[in-house]
Amino acid sequence: MWIAKTKVELRARLDAASRPVILVPTMGALHEGHASLISLAREKAGTDGTVIVSLFVNPIQFDRAGDLAAYPRPLAADLDVCEARSADGVFVPDDGEMYFPDRSVTVTERSLSTHLCGAARPGHFDGVCTVVLKLFLLTGCEAAVFGEKDFQQLAVIRRMVRDLDLRTEIIPHPTIRESDGLAMSSRNARLTPEHRADAPRIRQALLTAAGKSDVASILRVAGEIIGGSSYARIDYLSLVDAETLAPTENLAKPAILACAVFYGEVRLIDNIAVARAFP
Ligand code: AMP
Repeated sequence: MWIAKTKVELRARLDAASRPVILVPTMGALHEGHASLISLAREKAGTDGTVIVSLFVNPIQFDRAGDLAAYPRPLAADLDVCEARSADGVFVPDDGEMYFPDRSVTVTERSLSTHLCGAARPGHFDGVCTVVLKLFLLTGCEAAVFGEKDFQQLAVIRRMVRDLDLRTEIIPHPTIRESDGLAMSSRNARLTPEHRADAPRIRQALLTAAGKSDVASILRVAGEIIGGSSYARIDYLSLVDAETLAPTENLAKPAILACAVFYGEVRLIDNIAVARAFP
């Protein structure tokens, strides 16, 4: 497995790479969720294709300096995960490699990203779109894998691909969970033992609420279960149209119940499809 730290090294590797190239963009601190994405990329690329994992804690998508500073960066362990899941190469740029100090061009998605995390974290999806477009262009990847845990991110990236005529296929991957239902996240390691023990209520709340038949009950039940914790603080809890991500009251169309919850300084997100019998 090769490791490229610069764009020049990456390009040299890619010039010699067999196609298709499939990219798994990550911010590192890899867990089984990321590992599953790499395995799916390997499956899709076949033995002849090339699987690249990027490890880059993208500074321009953080809205809180403390969150960026506290983000874990266990490089050696991350490289072990990439190797174990048969990645062919890893791209690990530093901030200066990715961004000119006077950079002045960013990608802005103006509709889907006004809701949910985008509303709570101004500028976040500009940062995500900008880094993902750069990674697509740097790698020339035919496809890239993204997790459904970050449902809004997946939707925004798909919209960017559509609106900018990018030729990268977007491959979704279901959310991987701990045995108690908590969605795996690099941020889980920063939870105190009390908060970690309490956090599975997020999944329980979404599961219970998704079984209710009307919008008011869905939001009430989820709010009650998460709000029943003395540790959890709801950042947002919203039922949205699965396509537009705008708040919805219409259960005749696919909808997503999504939330962000703070435990201390740690912000966790999760979502569930609200399944109805659609005609
Ligand atoms: P991150 O390192 O948090 O930026 O995540 C990198 C990629 O891994 C994104 O596409 C995430 O959606 C995905 N991912 C993170 N956690 C999970 C999980 N628990 N299950 C599936 N995919 C995940």
